Amino acid sequence: MELITILNRCHRFRGFVYQHAYFSADKKSIAVAVRPSKGSAAVCSRCHLPAPGYDQLAERRFEFIPLWGFLVFLLYTMRRVDCRRCGVVAVEEVPRGDGKRTLTKAYMLFLARWARRLCRFLDEWCRQTMRSRIEPMKKIARSLRQHRELILNYFRAQKLISSGVVEGPNNKAKVTMRKSYGFRTYRVLELALYHSLGKLPEPVSTHDFF
Ligand SMILES: [Zn+2]
Repeated sequence: MELITILNRCHRFRGFVYQHAYFSADKKSIAVAVRPSKGSAAVCSRCHLPAPGYDQLAERRFEFIPLWGFLVFLLYTMRRVDCRRCGVVAVEEVPRGDGKRTLTKAYMLFLARWARRLCRFLDEWCRQTMRSRIEPMKKIARSLRQHRELILNYFRAQKLISSGVVEGPNNKAKVTMRKSYGFRTYRVLELALYHSLGKLPEPVSTHDFF
């Protein structure tokens, strides 16, 4: 059975067809090309009514529900319509996502459903584990309970927030340690981190090391 057949069976978009599916170059994600079905007019995103086409925008990627651990992206070239009712050239309405979001509605619903399920699963698992006599497992359960809200926030945020802001300084800190091949004392590491992360002024030196 082909992937397109599965997609058509479980998630059809009216007015659009799945063209073909293929692996990305790094084999980590699957791309599915989507195009409007023949004879279906684009719908104005303002008045939600069909309108004559105007031009096409660059191809966009919409993140879809992952499949067997592979990220799935729908590739689609958005059309613009010349809507006489609204008197403007507007981007077409697509059932996949809303506004500037790159996540499909289906994926957002999927994440929301998982957040609820995970919530129940997490509570139940922690309850059962705390009843057991396996101390290391109980330790994990306690830690999960303590960070429960933060863990679930990942699903609640629906990928709207990137962890890049945290990962940046995290990486900078790691690079600082690697550059020096480790530090002997915590105090020196702390000072080095203040310098690299806080851009503290350094004394004038006759030689540049980096
Ligand atoms: Zn319109």
